[in-house]
Amino acid sequence: MLNLVLFGPPGAGKGTQSENLIKKYKLTHISTGDLFRKHLGEGTELGKTAQKFMDEGNLVPDEIVIGMVDEKIHSTPGTNGFIFDGFPRTIAQANALDELMAKNNTQINTMLALEVSEEELMKRLLNRGKTSGRVDDQNEAKIKNRINVYNNETTPVANYYKQQGKLNSIKGVGSIEEIFNRLANTVDTKL
Ligand code: AMP
Repeated sequence: MLNLVLFGPPGAGKGTQSENLIKKYKLTHISTGDLFRKHLGEGTELGKTAQKFMDEGNLVPDEIVIGMVDEKIHSTPGTNGFIFDGFPRTIAQANALDELMAKNNTQINTMLALEVSEEELMKRLLNRGKTSGRVDDQNEAKIKNRINVYNNETTPVANYYKQQGKLNSIKGVGSIEEIFNRLANTVDTKL
């Protein structure tokens, strides 16, 4: 199996690049943000619980996120591997993911961290907000909060993977194709 973590701040291009990586390496996409938005759309209890955190750009509690990922992993047996997008976002989630992988006799092979300046992120998210319909993309204060949450709560996760020798920093500016080539070249060295 090939299991990748695609890491980076909101607006770094994780969703776009995941689509390309899935096609090239035939992986199953696990985007916790997308899964939450699906629950929200379907009006499930989980969606209702997550909504108040999401609308403000705060993190949904770890146990809810981890349970949802566990369920998704179990609903896709026989896959070539997974690409985790927007997960893990805390050290507790990173530990839980290692345990989930071990339980399935596999592991995270590598972590790809997209690097984009805050100024560029703000520009991209405000732009995305014009068409995404996402409440959390709609104003500068909410976007700023999501970037702060990333800086305060999520950046330690990079160090977690660094200690395991799995962190790869990738420049996240340029054309979609240029960035994809940087990602794929890094993945290819791990195969
Ligand atoms: P995203 O689409 O990855 O930007 O996620 C949108 C929102 O969903 C985030 O701002 C959080 O409220 C929530 N969320 C997504 N993934 C996670 C996660 N791994 N841990 C906690 N909250 C998450």
